Amino acid sequence: MRRCLLALLSLPLILAAQNQPLINHKRMTNLFLQLVHIDSGNENEAEICQFVAERLKELNPEELFIDDASKKIGGTGGNVFARFKGTVNGKPVMLSAHLDTVAPTKGIKVILTETEIKTDRTTILGADDKAGVALIFEAIRTLRERNLPHPPIEVVFTIREEKGLLGAKVFDKSKLKARYGIIVDGSGEPSDLIIGSPTHFRFEAIFYGKAAHAGVEPEKGINAIAMASDAIAAMNWGRIDEDTTANVGTIEGGQAMNIVPDRCKVIGEFRSHDPQKVEGLVAKWKQVCEQVALKFGSKVDLKVEKTFDAIRLSPEEPIVKAAMKAIESLGLKPKLKRMGGGTDGNVFAAHGIQCLVLPTGGENYHSTDEKLVLANFYAVGEILVRTIVELAKH
Ligand SMILES: [Zn+2]
Repeated sequence: MRRCLLALLSLPLILAAQNQPLINHKRMTNLFLQLVHIDSGNENEAEICQFVAERLKELNPEELFIDDASKKIGGTGGNVFARFKGTVNGKPVMLSAHLDTVAPTKGIKVILTETEIKTDRTTILGADDKAGVALIFEAIRTLRERNLPHPPIEVVFTIREEKGLLGAKVFDKSKLKARYGIIVDGSGEPSDLIIGSPTHFRFEAIFYGKAAHAGVEPEKGINAIAMASDAIAAMNWGRIDEDTTANVGTIEGGQAMNIVPDRCKVIGEFRSHDPQKVEGLVAKWKQVCEQVALKFGSKVDLKVEKTFDAIRLSPEEPIVKAAMKAIESLGLKPKLKRMGGGTDGNVFAAHGIQCLVLPTGGENYHSTDEKLVLANFYAVGEILVRTIVELAKH
């Protein structure tokens, strides 16, 4: 009985062992390390754009260019695009990762152990998202050298993602024929498949009051901070329901203790996996702001902008099924998940390209504790290649 149980428990391991890796671990890790040593954390992406464009060129794409995104959004360099022929006809799949990183990045010292890659903790590592870039390169190289069946592939490496998905936003989406894509970006287990991400709105409300001496003639003033408090108190914040959240992030106003403040600025956000719910919240906030302005006999300047659109992939979509099969082929159990944050996938979703988000094998993103767990990095590499091969069957 005990022996039986043990055999059952180790079944996934046996299956994995039977599955020889398709990808080249050493090549992928070396490319990752090269990328890590090209600083792209301070709006200085030009060098890394050039580097990846040259590596893409070696793979003989049908089309390759670096766009002029930085002219529109600042920084340097541009989004890098490449198109590759498939071995089967059909709709291409888009593969995407971002080239910029958060700071600090100056003088990265990499520490390489048997199991992970990290830094000396004075800088970030940049696995977010250079691990994603290395994974996409390794997938294409593996498909080519092993002659594996695959649909046409469109690669988009974006810039300034960390500044608010800016590169993806200005990329000319008419270049893309893909209706599905895979964004390789994020932390998590290799078996995690992100199939949902919220619609996101950002708001900035400026409440205008009227200045007056607070002790001598307060009745001549209108208190902008009191206006903002009134409005904030009329709404619910935090988790609204399982799909939806709302947050007041910053508030600033007032000049001195004894002056009735004439201006108060509030910045916040609303997000929901259900676009209707988030639009409802935005409408309510607009109404509340107008009512407060009316009540105080003053005005509010409210700006609301949609930062990104929701990703809503059904588990029945071919790309999700293909990724699930790929994960199962490694003896793992796929976990379909939703995430609270946004990726470039949300920008592509707004243009009719639904994207699955795969993790990279990295952990502790946006901190100097960031690291890349090699076993997970390699597992995602396998999953990515096998997902693309599965897609060729559809
Ligand atoms: Zn990222």
